[in-house]
Amino acid sequence: MKKVFFVDFDGTITQTDTCQAMVEAFAGDGWQQINELWEQRKISTEECANRTFQLFRATLDDLRKLLNTIKIDEGFEAFIDFCRQEGYPVYILSDGYDFCIEYILKKYGFEIPYYANHLVYEEGFRISCTYYNRECGLCGTCKRSLLERLAEPGSQVIYVGDGTSDTCPAAHSNLVFAKGRLLEYCRAEGISAVPVTSFTDVLEKLS
Ligand SMILES: [Mg+2]
Ligand SMILES: [Zn+2]
Repeated sequence: MKKVFFVDFDGTITQTDTCQAMVEAFAGDGWQQINELWEQRKISTEECANRTFQLFRATLDDLRKLLNTIKIDEGFEAFIDFCRQEGYPVYILSDGYDFCIEYILKKYGFEIPYYANHLVYEEGFRISCTYYNRECGLCGTCKRSLLERLAEPGSQVIYVGDGTSDTCPAAHSNLVFAKGRLLEYCRAEGISAVPVTSFTDVLEKLS
């Protein structure tokens, strides 16, 4: 059966979450409380990001410098090579920021389609959420609706992720590779998930 992979970006493809790195580097006090509300799914990604950005003191150049420190998962390249060889489509679905994904993919030489929130910089940061799904109401980029839109009928939908924004599509996938908060969520909700720590693990478990 043909497989299609949907992969989270922050903390899954990257070793550290770029959104987390941004708030730690750029935000003044108060971001933790906003983030906590988001983790509890009490406020949307759009509200969370735009409130947090009010606390930022940083420029795009500061952001580029920060992004230069972000490393990607050591098994990711081998995973992408495998998918290319097998003809399996891979899509990145992220509730993070297009600017960061574009920058990091380019730096590492990857060309992979991605869907994410649009980061705007005009005397400060804000986001606009092109892939918001009204039925969901929380995700900035609702991975569930993208997954349903992008998966070819009849293909096995495989999801790889680690966090809160991955809980929305998890129940709508045929197979989930999970770590971190996503793994905890799947266990709590009775969604079967294969625990992994890296893409090296994902590759091993696929063969
Ligand atoms: Mg993540
Ligand atoms: Zn959603």
